[in-house]
Amino acid sequence: MTATLRAVQADITTLQLDAIVNAANSSLLGGGGVDGAIHRAAGPELVHECRLLGGCKIGDAKVTKAYRLPAKFILHTVGPVWRGGGHGEADLLASCYRRSIEVAATKGISSLAFPGISTGVYGYPVELAANVAISSVRKALREHSSMTEVIFCCFSAEDLAIYDRLLNSAAA
Ligand code: ADP
Repeated sequence: MTATLRAVQADITTLQLDAIVNAANSSLLGGGGVDGAIHRAAGPELVHECRLLGGCKIGDAKVTKAYRLPAKFILHTVGPVWRGGGHGEADLLASCYRRSIEVAATKGISSLAFPGISTGVYGYPVELAANVAISSVRKALREHSSMTEVIFCCFSAEDLAIYDRLLNSAAA
């Protein structure tokens, strides 16, 4: 089965899918941006479960329940801070997307949504990040055929326009 890949403009906490992905920091104990929004919407039980996970390395992903969110699970992944592009940022960002899909597959998750990992406070340029995101997800989906739907959840109309353009132009 081929998974549907598309971009939407939404608050990721509202999406009704098997899982949403959180752009967390390595403590997994909550932060600003999308991380703060997810923790607020999921409720305080989330941070209790996160405390038991012992943090997460950059480029890796861990899974929790989603508590008060409409999704069933949250994948927490830690993106790289943008330091100009010469410090392995692209490989680490690609790993975030790949590991999220790998960990999701172990839970039987077949639909999930990603935010623009690292493109907020971590400063990764959106278009460069979107290219990495799309190619890493396409590659991972070839190995995880149980995944049926992957959404790139854009917070702004500008980000959505970038994703739509890249999804329509990049080779499948
Ligand atoms: P990072 O620290 O990985 O850069 P941020 O949370 O600062 O993470 O930003 C990541 C992306 O998430 C940015 O594109 C930001 O606009 C977006 N974002 C922030 N809040 C939400 C939300 N509620 N739903 C979807 N995307 C969001």
